[in-house]
Amino acid sequence: MTQSSDPVPDPAAKLTAAPEERTIPPAPEGRPHVVEFHNVTKTYAAGTSREYTAIKNVTFHVADIEAIGELICILGPSGCGKSTVLKLIAGLEPQHPPTIGDVKVLGQKVEGPGSDRGMVFQEYTAFDNRTVLDNVAFGLECRGVPRAERHEQARAWIEKVGLNPKKDALKFPHELSGGMRQRVAIARSLILNPRILLMDEPFGALDPMTRLRMQDLLIKLWAEAEATVFFVTHSIEEAVFLGDRIYLFSNAPGTIIEEVHAPRPNKSAVESQALPEFSERVKYIRQKIAAMEEQAGII
Ligand code: ADP
Repeated sequence: MTQSSDPVPDPAAKLTAAPEERTIPPAPEGRPHVVEFHNVTKTYAAGTSREYTAIKNVTFHVADIEAIGELICILGPSGCGKSTVLKLIAGLEPQHPPTIGDVKVLGQKVEGPGSDRGMVFQEYTAFDNRTVLDNVAFGLECRGVPRAERHEQARAWIEKVGLNPKKDALKFPHELSGGMRQRVAIARSLILNPRILLMDEPFGALDPMTRLRMQDLLIKLWAEAEATVFFVTHSIEEAVFLGDRIYLFSNAPGTIIEEVHAPRPNKSAVESQALPEFSERVKYIRQKIAAMEEQAGII
């Protein structure tokens, strides 16, 4: 039998090369990391018959780079512990504290929630009996900012997230669409100028077009805010469009199986997703997930 000297072309070969790197400078030495996980494992209901390990040996760090907040997507199948990772950063119970390992924010061990970390959830979390204006101003009110000043800032944020500062400001949450509600949720967090913004499938319940528009809005606001954003999603397309970096999680117990870098978008979500290189990146990640599921005997 003759054997060809040319290797059989592997259709996945060029996809297994590291995707294009970002052009983000290295962090100065000696500066504490924005977020650091060291061998973090979380077991719920430990020692009971319902004991369940959601994440195992998760280790990563996000360096503190002056004037650049990275957007990090945590991507993985449902139940692989993505929300657990986010809430450990937020310091929210019962995810906090980890069963094993350390979670640090800006060099300090996380002991609970803090104003340096804002959070936006998929479910709507505003106060139904407050107007949009008073919902957006809520955090400033808690900080004791006088009414006129907090309302002025809230109006500016309402406009920045694409709502009408006159008409929409006086509406109540039940009068808003899903997309408008998430705009309020983002304004409510960003008005407090958090160092870290934690977003848990914030666009997961929106229709496809609204979702793309919200992705564009996030990219625009994040460039201004300079916050480090952690964004949980199970949509590969969403992660590839938004993420500077994607932590790809395995099935439960979740652990990082790969860190994928992607360039920052310079086009809208609709335009970006039509590019061949976008499809290549999506395909690369899809193949990784398929291989992982095959290995785990899921398919
Ligand atoms: P994801 O965000 O990836 O869908 P989660 O972090 O929400 O995953 O949950 C991971 C696993 O841990 C799931 O199987 C879930 O049922 C379980 N889990 C999450 N929170 C708790 C809890 N408070 N008590 C017990 N199990 C939990």
